[in-house]
Amino acid sequence: MNVNGFTICSLFFSILLAFVFFFKERVNNRETKLYSMLLITNVSMGIIATITHLFIRHYQDLIITDVISKLLLISYITWMFIFTLYLFSISQKFQQRNDKIKSILYFFAILFYFIMGLFIVILPIYYINDDLIVYSYGPSTNMLYIATIGCVIVWIFSIAINFKNLTNKKYLPLYLILLIGSIVAIIQRMHPELLLITAMLSYVTFIMYFTIENPDVKMIKVLDEAKLSAEKANRAKSEFLSNMSHEIRTPLNAIVGFSDCILDEDSLEDAKNDAKDIKLASENLLEIVNGILDISKIEADKMEIVETNYNPSEILQNVAKLIKPRIGEKPIEMVTIFAPDLPYMLYGDSGKLRQIVTNILTNAVKYTEKGRIAFYVNCVNEEEYSKLVISIEDTGRGIKPEQIDKLFTKFQRLDEDKNTTLEGTGLGLAITKKFVEMMGGKIIVQSKYGEGSKFTVYLKQKIVLREQTEDSVVKEMINKSNEPEKADYKSKKVLIVDDNKINLRVAYKLLSNFGITADTVESGFECIDKINAGIKYDLILLDDMMPKMSGVETLHKLKEIQGFNSPVVALTANAISGMREQYLESGFNDYLAKPIEREELSRVLKEYLGK
Ligand code: ADP
Repeated sequence: MNVNGFTICSLFFSILLAFVFFFKERVNNRETKLYSMLLITNVSMGIIATITHLFIRHYQDLIITDVISKLLLISYITWMFIFTLYLFSISQKFQQRNDKIKSILYFFAILFYFIMGLFIVILPIYYINDDLIVYSYGPSTNMLYIATIGCVIVWIFSIAINFKNLTNKKYLPLYLILLIGSIVAIIQRMHPELLLITAMLSYVTFIMYFTIENPDVKMIKVLDEAKLSAEKANRAKSEFLSNMSHEIRTPLNAIVGFSDCILDEDSLEDAKNDAKDIKLASENLLEIVNGILDISKIEADKMEIVETNYNPSEILQNVAKLIKPRIGEKPIEMVTIFAPDLPYMLYGDSGKLRQIVTNILTNAVKYTEKGRIAFYVNCVNEEEYSKLVISIEDTGRGIKPEQIDKLFTKFQRLDEDKNTTLEGTGLGLAITKKFVEMMGGKIIVQSKYGEGSKFTVYLKQKIVLREQTEDSVVKEMINKSNEPEKADYKSKKVLIVDDNKINLRVAYKLLSNFGITADTVESGFECIDKINAGIKYDLILLDDMMPKMSGVETLHKLKEIQGFNSPVVALTANAISGMREQYLESGFNDYLAKPIEREELSRVLKEYLGK
């Protein structure tokens, strides 16, 4: 083999390695920076070694030959110097030292490097150029041996002080260089013409490629993002819990406090007043829980658009009618103006539309002390769609421009100092915005602090009927005449199953408001006994969360009874997102969340008993 073969091979090898390393995305830490320097030194070393060989062979008497040969020696000590710095960077013992000691060690390493370099430059160098044999020797070259001995001492010392970490793969290049270095030293001594040093250093540099901290950068980015979003979610969860416990405690405090008052009171009038406050606090509590459910549904992506035909004018008028009493004694004039060309029947999610307008109107009433609240519904009718423009304007406290952005953030209430007497959760507008977006619309806020605000919602809804037709009037009349009367329910048999006595009493009382005298039982077993005894019910309201036998288990047992075909409605406080669908899937006919709302109960009764 040609004597220069090793050098040429290692040069190509180093260039290839440098390409791979520099073209790959990498982490910019101390280790990779030092490794980059080692690679550059390696490539330069290969180039200089090849040129040196040519010059010694052909132009031994030229001064440039001395320069290049010495440059090669300097590249060797540079490699060893950088490798030593690399060992410093991976040594835990070194990193644990204080900055002063580190600086002193760095200083001596640099000083040693420069002194060796200086001697290499100033001392003479001689060459052997004999047929196949080409190499340098003399005082300058001896400096390389001295530098090597110095470095080896430091390297062995670093092994000694880091003996606990020696199994770390980062130390592999060090072992290799000590092992191969010793072998190469012996071979070189016997065959100086072999010029193995460049090849050996390239080999160690190559092995180092696999031992340096060079993790997959893309994976790190993905992990970093995942970590950030997990941290964010965790923070949001903690914030959510602390907000919730505060929000829930406020109305609960009122409920407990006023209940205590009622128990101590003798006057019926006082008790009635306290009961009114309890009702208000309970409604507020329910609003909070519903808000949380909506938000959690939205965040779990479980909130769905439920589209039906609806009469926008009727729905929106109803909202206005329901909100108006909330103005109470405040000197506020509320005007409602609907465009005359508002289509009679649209297709879309009327429930969400109702909630959007309810939330904005409620806020207008809540945050306005006097003046005017104007509720406008305009539209631009196209061939298929009607573009609704719903605006609600008030002369209330207004919103500071810098706070407009926070308006739609959940749990964010503005002007907290002014809110002390106003109930609220800061969830309303966050939900409103989500609903508007889910329906493909837009919400815009204009406000002047101290003067008033204007919320405008833009929604596009499909037109079903532009105007009221004779047909629809007749249909509506038929529907109205079909509305069941209290008396219609009198003959119906309803069974309520709930392990909680208070809940049983509440459900019983609510049903008696509809003229129904229901049977009550406290467990699934009793319910099954009743059916087995041959009693036929027109409707069963079945609580799910019961000890020993849950509602779902009870339902399955009921369905096994021959001839059983009564509609069964799940009655549960387990009203988290997606529960309705789950109960329907389990075989229930419908679902009623506790606390039972009159309207919902009325809907269920109408559906199952009204026929
Ligand atoms: P809540 O009313 O329960 O506090 P919202 O999400 O509905 O929560 O509203 C967030 C905040 O925006 C309110 O606390 C209030 O400070 C402000 N805000 C909402 N609507 C109005 C309005 N019409 N006028 C003035 N401020 C408003």
